[in-house]
Amino acid sequence: MMMRSNQHTGLRGRILLTVGITTILIMMLMSWGILYRWRQGQIQREESSALAVSHAFSVAVIDALVYAGQGFDQPEGLLDHYVELFMVQNQRLRTITILDPEGQIVAQSWGHLPGLWVSGELSAIMAVPGPRVVIDQTDEGSWALETIMPMHSGNHRWGVLVMTFEADSIRSRIAQGFFLLLLFSTAVTSVLLLLLWMLLSRILNSLHTLVTAMDQVDFETGFVPPLPFRSDEIGQLNLGLHQMGQRLQQSRQDVIRAEKQVWHAERLATIGRLASGLAHEINNPINGVRNCIFAIKSDPQNLEQTQEYLDMMDEGLSHASGVIEKLLGFARKQQSGLAPVVLNDAVESVVRLVKFKLERKSISLETELAPDLPAVVADRQLIQEVIMNLLINAVDAVPEGGLICIKTMVGGDDILLSVQDHGHGIPPHLQDQIFDPFFTTKETGEGTGLGLSISLGIIQAHGGLLAVSSNPESGTTFTVQLPIDRPIQTEEKE
Ligand code: ADP
Repeated sequence: MMMRSNQHTGLRGRILLTVGITTILIMMLMSWGILYRWRQGQIQREESSALAVSHAFSVAVIDALVYAGQGFDQPEGLLDHYVELFMVQNQRLRTITILDPEGQIVAQSWGHLPGLWVSGELSAIMAVPGPRVVIDQTDEGSWALETIMPMHSGNHRWGVLVMTFEADSIRSRIAQGFFLLLLFSTAVTSVLLLLLWMLLSRILNSLHTLVTAMDQVDFETGFVPPLPFRSDEIGQLNLGLHQMGQRLQQSRQDVIRAEKQVWHAERLATIGRLASGLAHEINNPINGVRNCIFAIKSDPQNLEQTQEYLDMMDEGLSHASGVIEKLLGFARKQQSGLAPVVLNDAVESVVRLVKFKLERKSISLETELAPDLPAVVADRQLIQEVIMNLLINAVDAVPEGGLICIKTMVGGDDILLSVQDHGHGIPPHLQDQIFDPFFTTKETGEGTGLGLSISLGIIQAHGGLLAVSSNPESGTTFTVQLPIDRPIQTEEKE
């Protein structure tokens, strides 16, 4: 859950970062374009108004110079007077300088330092062909706008009028415009990101609710927690989850139905195998008995033959009753006498009974019985029957002079007993069938196919496990696992 909420933050952060950077770049480009055009407009306006002022003043100056050139009487310092008057009238003027065609100053505003012109050398100024405007920084650090206006009347050149205006106000106006635009862009970007953040939070919260609901889906029952109805894409996801729950429920029911069918089919197959095995095991002796009866009937006087056939009939009927007895035991899995049983003792009893079989095939038996083995509560007779079945199977599997090993040990809360042989092993495809009743690979008359199925029933009734591992190289190991101090199941499985 922690990881998921981090992922939400990460997704939100990534989207906000991407959109934020993109918006800031777009706003910067737009602001720069707007500011550039606006600045150009401001400067052009200032330049044309400065040129207009300069032109108006140059007319008066040319008049005065023309009069003086034609020898008319003029008051002393007329041009200086003009200059001072104009300076007073125009607050933005910093200097006025009137130069004659040789570059000599004819008149200049009072109180202002000469050489404020920012447009370059005197020769360059004198050579200017027409009116010119320059905006630049002065040596003092302030900004100035300078007009250079050549003065002509007809073909006569009267000199040059240089007027310098302060330009700090334009710059501060431009700076103010820049600041306002920056403020506007920042506000727009912030509002945009805030709206985006709110939208993303809503979407991610809905997704979070959906993920929580997915976590709570019960795969056993197909239960999906209710989710709010929505008409958008998240609503479609909610609906999809809900439908998935319904499909899950449906397929769960299908699986249960299919499992039941398989179970029934397996039961039928087992019953079929049981019936055919039973028929085989009982039919054979019954047929034998009938043959004997037929033979006795056909020659009742032959007492010797009758005696022989009676013995055969007895043997056949014993076999049939043995099978029936085993089957009854198999069906009931009866546990008559429950008492503490030490498996080591049960193993030793069985080994004593099977000893002659081992000797007949010269089989070596190794026993590794754990000392001080705790007892299990069990039916000693039944447990011995299990060990006997496993040991006889092992004897049947190993060749002459083979080796069988029986071990007991404690494994956690269980007692383990293993019977290991180095015989021919059980092919993998048969390992599922060996516990079925009447499954046998032995010759007719040698095996009934009931040993393992009965043993499995007994061990399961004791709350234990019976497992097999086998391969043709190393042989077969059957392991019995019985719980220590665990109450025994008394109910029979169906
Ligand atoms: P039965 O011994 O009468 O055949 P079981 O139920 O005891 O019946 O065994 C079923 C089959 O399992 C045997 O016929 C045999 O093929 C196989 N089997 C059991 N134990 C072993 C073993 N130790 N090694 C090889 N095969 C075995």
